[in-house]
Amino acid sequence: MTEGATPGRVEIFLASRNAKKLDEMKRILGERLPGIEVLGLDDVTGYQEPVEDQPDFAGNALVKARAGVTATGLPSLADDSGLCVDALNGMPGVLSARWSGRPKDDDRNNRLLLDQLADVPDERRSADFRCAVAFCHDDGSGGLLEHVVEGVMPGRVIRETRGSGGFGYDVVFVPDDQDGELTSAEMGAAAKDSISHRGRALREISPLVVEVLGKPS
Ligand code: IMP
Repeated sequence: MTEGATPGRVEIFLASRNAKKLDEMKRILGERLPGIEVLGLDDVTGYQEPVEDQPDFAGNALVKARAGVTATGLPSLADDSGLCVDALNGMPGVLSARWSGRPKDDDRNNRLLLDQLADVPDERRSADFRCAVAFCHDDGSGGLLEHVVEGVMPGRVIRETRGSGGFGYDVVFVPDDQDGELTSAEMGAAAKDSISHRGRALREISPLVVEVLGKPS
């Protein structure tokens, strides 16, 4: 059950410990539902982190959002994301976080990726960041309603690391949007949010979330 749930408050659970993701969701939903509370993993007890063993981002996001409803009883959101490189047939994809093995290490992942693409010419270095966001909530009669949307940020993998912002593969990825020169680690957070896979997916799901949460129970 939730520790923080309060009767009468509009609350949603986001299956994440990442303060930046929680803030971003709160900003997006808060514009339409002032006062909404976005609870994260650190605000609840009883959430069993499921194994992310699905073949695609949507499947993994759904597994996490369902676990959120089970643990909290609240409408729940979860995301799953990664980098899909065309020259690697869409990999690392769902394996992005641990592409170079455990424990997860962003620098090691980036070195491995640059090494794998060393002989790939510039015109074949296209890649997409993809993010699925799942939203699960009860249907009012004991069933569960499930929705998934996906956001994409197209771009390309460069040949070196550049920038100090962001995380993960941001230092080797230049999005097509913006000026097509800066890596996503060289843009400000707001500029990245405005074109990112995650920002796009969260903005797409938000009207539905507002509709469900805004309904009187
Ligand atoms: P998660 O779904 O947020 O856990 O992300 C999975 C992995 O995909 C991360 O560990 C990163 O390696 C990669 N990734 C996802 N989104 C981004 C991004 O916006 N920038 C850089 N790397 C990302």
